[in-house]
Amino acid sequence: MKQMYINGNWVDARSGNKREIINPYNQEVIAEAADGNEEDAKIAIAAAREAFDNGEWASTPAAARGEKVLRIAELIERDREELARMETLDTGKTVEESREDMDDIAGVFRYFGGLADKDGGEMIESPIPDSQSRIVREPVGVCGQITPWNYPLLQASWKIAPALAAGNTIVMKPSEITPLTTVKVTELMEESGFPAGAVNLVLGDGATVGNELAESDSVDLISFTGGIETGKKVMQKASGNMKKIALELGGKNPNVVFADADFETAVDQALNAAFFHAGQVCSAGARLIVEDSIHDEFVKELADRAGRIKLGDGFEDDTQSGPLISAEHRGKVESYVEIGKQEGAKIVTGGARPEKEELQNGFFYLPTIFTECTSDMRIVQEEIFGPVLTVERFHSEEEAVTLANDSIYGLAGAVFTTDIDKAERAAAKMRMGTVWINDFHPYFAQAPWGGYKQSGIGRELGKPGLEEYTETKHIYRNLKPEPIHWFK
Ligand code: NAD
Repeated sequence: MKQMYINGNWVDARSGNKREIINPYNQEVIAEAADGNEEDAKIAIAAAREAFDNGEWASTPAAARGEKVLRIAELIERDREELARMETLDTGKTVEESREDMDDIAGVFRYFGGLADKDGGEMIESPIPDSQSRIVREPVGVCGQITPWNYPLLQASWKIAPALAAGNTIVMKPSEITPLTTVKVTELMEESGFPAGAVNLVLGDGATVGNELAESDSVDLISFTGGIETGKKVMQKASGNMKKIALELGGKNPNVVFADADFETAVDQALNAAFFHAGQVCSAGARLIVEDSIHDEFVKELADRAGRIKLGDGFEDDTQSGPLISAEHRGKVESYVEIGKQEGAKIVTGGARPEKEELQNGFFYLPTIFTECTSDMRIVQEEIFGPVLTVERFHSEEEAVTLANDSIYGLAGAVFTTDIDKAERAAAKMRMGTVWINDFHPYFAQAPWGGYKQSGIGRELGKPGLEEYTETKHIYRNLKPEPIHWFK
């Protein structure tokens, strides 16, 4: 039974409601969690407000705040295996991947813990004689934080670590279907010792708890990661008190492969780009754009390898990919496959659920590749968020870039070629927050992450990820105060 954490206490939902948490591999109930609503969110927001306004955490020296955040990293490393196994139970991803997630997450807390006291503001040259100008950074206040189910704790860490390092107080709401590791990390934060009310966790769904965080006049900043339609709702609700917004939304990320790319590397990476974590990755390379002259050979090799991806239990050593997160989500993926067929794209592998007996209780779907795709198709334009790859052809560098940019999204993309000048030209023209050259998926705490176009607003990670959680103040001081006699 997992509870919420409000004002330094572990509590049930006021309504007494609970929600079952399901393992997507076999549909077994792995936990029960408090199922909060607006009322619980309001209480948590009030606690965070009080904790911010009393100034205890915000006025703690930045170096000491950083130490506390670094302590969370140590505790995550201590409990790495428990956290990893919990994440696999909750999401179905392989435990090897979950372990890597935990290392990344500890790295995020380390990075922001270390950064906490590195930007103490600066003096600037004032243009007015006998004056002094300085720029200081201050915490924004109460931060509402809403995360999705695909990388439950990783996404939470990108928000919790910088917010606390900068001196804010937080109300975190994880996805209602994958709250377990966020609850566990809240326990670790309690162990680290934050002032009561600085850290709050409310469990529940988006329409109630999430909506309250977005709408509340007592929240100063809302940071949301999730789908584009939900992001629009959050943005509208946030406008009520003009709170700051940070939105990390979806992507339909192009992977551009030129004929002169190293074939083996490009095939291997294209497979990883599209099918890692069953394609449930915001930066998944779900849109392969390949040069005409190698198209057939490339697709043949890719389809062959995709057909051999071993689906199964995330705890088994030889499993390469787990299930999708839920029955509902698999239904969405299946309906896109139907749309693809109607649009005239051709399936070269997958396009169905696996037949293996042992996979029937999980929400599995076969890695699927569509060829003969064009950029006007819905399967090419819309985020499917599953193991479905579309393939388009190009004939020139210019056409490749035009196709890559033909999207409402602009989260990430990649280009594979051995001609580095060509790679740099393409990378410069691609309208995305991240462009990888001869690689796919690397992200780390030191580099900012976020979207151009409708993939979001603002940046997480890197120095901008900390700046999101600060207000910038200019303090001007007249060193020779005297009457100015503007009004005689
Ligand atoms: P979602 O939008 O359905 O839900 C995300 C979160 O928002 C959940 O916690 C949910 O409870 C909450 N929510 C739902 N309705 C709400 C409302 N009306 N008001 C406030 N909160 C609400 O997304 P999901 O299905 O959990 O996650 C998948 C999406 O997340 C994909 O689109 C993916 O691309 C995106 N994503 C983006 C990034 C990134 O870094 N850009 C990272 C991971 C996932």
